[in-house]
Amino acid sequence: MAQLKRVAILGSTGSIGTQALEVIAAHPQLFEVEVLCAHSNSNLLITQAKQFRPNAVVVTDETKYAEVKEALGGLPIKVFAGHTSLADVVAWESVDVVVTAIVGFAGLHSTIAAVRAGKRIALANKETLVVAGDLVARLAMEHKAAIVPVDSEHSAIFQCLVGEKYNAVEKVILTASGGPFLGRKPNYLVNVKASHALQHPNWTMGAKITIDSATLMNKGLEMIEAKWLFGLQNEQIDVVIHPQSIIHSMVQFSDSSVKAQMGLPDMKLPIQYALAFPDRVKNEFKRLDFKEFSKLSFEQPDYKTFRNLALAKDAMYRGGNAPCVLNAANEVVVHAFLQNRVSFIEMSDVIETVATRVAFIEQPGLEDHEQSDKEARIRAAELVKKSQLSH
Ligand code: NDP
Ligand code: MG
Repeated sequence: MAQLKRVAILGSTGSIGTQALEVIAAHPQLFEVEVLCAHSNSNLLITQAKQFRPNAVVVTDETKYAEVKEALGGLPIKVFAGHTSLADVVAWESVDVVVTAIVGFAGLHSTIAAVRAGKRIALANKETLVVAGDLVARLAMEHKAAIVPVDSEHSAIFQCLVGEKYNAVEKVILTASGGPFLGRKPNYLVNVKASHALQHPNWTMGAKITIDSATLMNKGLEMIEAKWLFGLQNEQIDVVIHPQSIIHSMVQFSDSSVKAQMGLPDMKLPIQYALAFPDRVKNEFKRLDFKEFSKLSFEQPDYKTFRNLALAKDAMYRGGNAPCVLNAANEVVVHAFLQNRVSFIEMSDVIETVATRVAFIEQPGLEDHEQSDKEARIRAAELVKKSQLSH
């Protein structure tokens, strides 16, 4: 029988975090919660801690510490606050696997700390690889930290590559559902609001990634994520729209053969796979019935309308700190869009302008990334203030 894995879940109160806990609860003989970490949702964090009885909880929003500490008083659970504590805790000997499910740049330091400690990483926090993929990939090699993707496309590619170690990959093809505005043109998008963009046709996810899916920025971020996860050249990464989200992605090999991984859209599967790899664990998830899907279709993405995809691709080709700047500007505009302070179309305008205003650094280190991230956020916030909607 497989050995019990002790899991740290960073971002336990989010969409991926709560689904990771469902997977763990369904397989108590395989997984145990060692650490839970959340930011501001102290109520849910407390409930989770009472249920899963981890060794430690970390609340990164330090103003919530007293409340969490008091609620868990009397239980044998250590309580810590802040990102520095989190970086310490993920490196504990007692942690086997770290699920990185914090959203955005905020997940960078804890992911790097877990990589430096040589932990198995079940990586959901794609922004980490977008910002500092080069650095994280190098550290992972150096510290023998296996990064197993949770993102469904990358999990698909990873699964297609199992057993192909010595075979050359020609390209990977990331599938994209196209989001709620597939087929729409700028004259329609000009008026869409967050409430509409938040209605994803196939997946239920956190707010940030749902907006990224509507703008196709998510697929752009995933191109960059794939580059670093699988050590690819830019030209080897392709995107195709596949509205049914049944094929999660594909790999084309040097003999022209294409492998695809398929399944119903349910994030619990890639989460379980990342936790259990190299094993496949029997579960009760709904099975894919091909007879229910009379048509699987594919089309070219509309780069002209969904400019964020083109901007992300451009940042990938530019390299250096360009993806970090793109990511920071995107985080700012998505936040503003959710608060109706910037329009759907303006999000791309801001990202494009910020890319030209932050100095290019060809080989950035971690401090350069921090600096570029800060600067890009300031520039993006200035531009957001100029939006009609901000007045
Ligand atoms: P959610 O918004 O649902 O959850 C985000 C989590 O991060 C919450 O636990 C939140 O804590 C925590 N968090 C937010 N801000 C901070 C911060 N400043 N410091 C520390 N923790 C913070 O996001 P998702 O679960 O949707 O996404 C998480 C990551 O996984 C993202 O990088 C996303 O791109 C990726 N991903 C998600 C998929 C999905 O299906 N949801 C699919 C593929 C990838 P709290 O709520 O307590 O404030
Ligand atoms: Mg994805």
